[in-house]
Amino acid sequence: MRALRRCLRLPLFVAVCLCMLAIPAPAVAGFGLPIPAGWPLANPPAVQRGFDPPTVAFGPGHRGIDLVAKQGETILAAASGTVAFVGSIAGKPVISIDHGEVRTTYEPVVSTLHSGDRVALGQVIGELASGGHCSAPKINTCLHWGLREGKKYLDPLLLIGNGGGQLRLVAATQREVVKREAQARAAATPTGAIPSSAGRPGSHGFLHPVAGRVTSAFGIRVHPVLKIKKLHDGTDFGVPCGTPIRAPYAGVVTRAYFNPAYGNRLFLSHGAVDGVRVETAFNHAARYQVRPGQHVRRGQVIGVVGSTGLSTGCHLHLMLWLNGRLSNPMNWL
Ligand SMILES: [Zn+2]
Ligand SMILES: [Zn+2]
Repeated sequence: MRALRRCLRLPLFVAVCLCMLAIPAPAVAGFGLPIPAGWPLANPPAVQRGFDPPTVAFGPGHRGIDLVAKQGETILAAASGTVAFVGSIAGKPVISIDHGEVRTTYEPVVSTLHSGDRVALGQVIGELASGGHCSAPKINTCLHWGLREGKKYLDPLLLIGNGGGQLRLVAATQREVVKREAQARAAATPTGAIPSSAGRPGSHGFLHPVAGRVTSAFGIRVHPVLKIKKLHDGTDFGVPCGTPIRAPYAGVVTRAYFNPAYGNRLFLSHGAVDGVRVETAFNHAARYQVRPGQHVRRGQVIGVVGSTGLSTGCHLHLMLWLNGRLSNPMNWL
């Protein structure tokens, strides 16, 4: 378990753990997908984390999808085939099934089946063990479900709905939660211009919470997971999971909680700075190490970068409010 945790902290090791030394390749569906196929769980599950194949060999990424499930829940064969492997990889119990040209993998799953056993679509192949790599609190177990064509990793959602799996990238319930939140935010916190008296960006003594390039700016964009046009309500810094997040300025922790879209969130109130009331929020972290009510110093480590919530990879989504109005963080930092 300790080895697993350590492995999850380092993207390179994650790559080694999850890809089993295969070379990642673009997710292009081959012709050999088994039909019929279905979810590996009895009820259509929520996708806790989507498919995010690495762009370079051993790069950070997610070589399958994570489905929310309970420990002990029965796991089903996603299609008929032959058991190819039952055993332990990087300390996690794994079963994989050969379907001809593609193979599905299920972890952490304990199984009493053996290599060579024939299985039918929907047949129980094992049960979900504890652990796995769901990092969100309240979602402490998940099934990591993978699909491979040779050494190429594919999105397992290709198996759902006869290739129309993209529509289910986010379970309907999660999609609704996200839409409602976006609407509520748009109504409650219109984006605002910075008071002209406040000074220029970079002049307020705020640090960048992580040293990394901006991978997605504040503004209207097509959401990478939901595929709908919406306000990207913060600035994304692309940095590896495990990177320390630093308080950009002295303040007090006001809230910390898990949200299905933002993952692990934490809010800092910085009080009045240059005549403007400033609040920041940090999203998708693996975890935080400060608590509501706690005072933090400028530069103090408050948590570590993760990919919790609706996220396609390790990054920090930084948000900023000026006098209660959601604002572009880069107009202040
Ligand atoms: Zn996973
Ligand atoms: Zn973002």
